[in-house]
Amino acid sequence: MSAAKRHIVVVGGGVIGLSTAIALLDHLSSRYDVTVVAEDLPDHPSTTSPSPSPSKPPASYASAWAGAHHVSDAKTEEELARDQVTFDVLKRLHAARPPGFDEAGEPIVWNHQVEYFEQDRINRAAVEWYPDYRELDPSMLPPGACFGCSFSTCTIVVPLYLPFLFRLFLARGGRALHARVTSLEQALSLAESRTADFICNDTTASFAAPSALVVSPGLGARALADDEAVHPVRGQTLLVRAPWCTLSERDTVPNADLPRTAAVSPWPGLSRCNEEGFRDVYVIPRGGADGHFIVGGTRLPHDWSDEPREATTRDILAQALRYMPALANPHRSLTAGAGEAQPDDVDVVAVNVGFRPARSGGVRLERGPSLGQAQVVYNYGFGGVGYQASWGAALQCRDLIDDALGQARAPRGSTLASLDGRCQL
Ligand SMILES: Cc1cc2nc3c(=O)[nH]c(=O)nc-3n(C[C@H](O)[C@H](O)[C@H](O)COP(=O)(O)OP(=O)(O)OC[C@H]3O[C@@H](n4cnc5c(N)ncnc54)[C@H](O)[C@@H]3O)c2cc1C
Repeated sequence: MSAAKRHIVVVGGGVIGLSTAIALLDHLSSRYDVTVVAEDLPDHPSTTSPSPSPSKPPASYASAWAGAHHVSDAKTEEELARDQVTFDVLKRLHAARPPGFDEAGEPIVWNHQVEYFEQDRINRAAVEWYPDYRELDPSMLPPGACFGCSFSTCTIVVPLYLPFLFRLFLARGGRALHARVTSLEQALSLAESRTADFICNDTTASFAAPSALVVSPGLGARALADDEAVHPVRGQTLLVRAPWCTLSERDTVPNADLPRTAAVSPWPGLSRCNEEGFRDVYVIPRGGADGHFIVGGTRLPHDWSDEPREATTRDILAQALRYMPALANPHRSLTAGAGEAQPDDVDVVAVNVGFRPARSGGVRLERGPSLGQAQVVYNYGFGGVGYQASWGAALQCRDLIDDALGQARAPRGSTLASLDGRCQL
């Protein structure tokens, strides 16, 4: 029984809601019980399989559709801090390898990243802190690029990492409920229901009436938080198979700052930052024997269409091949006898569409007016950076919950310390 603890309800089962829920459970003083209420959770069959499945999560469940690379484009100190805290937690998590962490494959893969910039205003502060950072000699730049750099970073392999987060949450005593709600009040009331069908490891636990609510419904904040600034940024990406596309000798750099156990992908990651300052071409290696890459991608604000577009697929492939011709199946391009690899030469395994949950004016991470007895903290609007900002956002949100409930803030190390291999999944 845990009736003496405060009960926190989190609306949203994406990377932001789940990371926040784990951070709340991970308080050194074990002072919170947590219920996640979400329409979509990572127990969907195709969210747990690295291969495509006939039934897909909806495009609005952004966390199922990210690449996801950790390549910061932070514009403010707060954003940079979130990305750096997340990088640090991912590194520790990878080194700690808690039980169940890699039961279906490596959820975090280290890789060598190459970045090309086509604009003069380079946001160096966002990337120069990564391990092994170096600037590329101008002679190595492709046409159109005026600056390039490389560094070591990680890929978060979403089909493995998101279910791992969910297992970690349940293992820490959290419980979850599949439900679409039409109001925040409804989420609070469902979370205290005695008859709801909760997913949990301990069915005997009883939770008190909710003391606080974390609002992390991604795009759902448009309706649930009555926030018209929230909108989709449509992204079409391709899952590509290219195990022959390995690092060249020249591109290999020492990974001095990575955990000793780090499995470094033999495949490179790459992106191009266009003249408007957006990464409109990216190749994200997912590691594993399949040699899978996520190749993207588009960024179309306010576009609600979840149907893949054939012309977009060809355009994505043509752009990616300019920078990484080795993505093409060498057998196919040789057969065709063409000089340059063509989009048809690439083995496309799946074409996907996801909606980045963006917010004009940026992330909303703040306290709001209480709902009855429950204090409220908003934590949404992460657009295209939710994975790389996830742990930083989760710890900021936990601080706000501590403040709202008049508790001393947990030391930052508490979350990191308990990730050091002692948790049982
Ligand atoms: C194509 C693409 C590529 C991306 N690449 C990267 C990348 O490389 N790196 C990176 O860091 N990020 C990337 N992102 C962004 C990242 O995926 C998002 O920022 C992140 O997933 C947002 O997480 P979230 O938890 O806020 O929202 P979501 O994952 O959308 O989760 C929202 C949750 O709220 C629930 N919900 C919503 N409304 C309701 C309701 N009414 N009732 C109950 N539940 C509700 C949903 O069911 C879901 O559980 C990418 C996104 C896309 C689409």
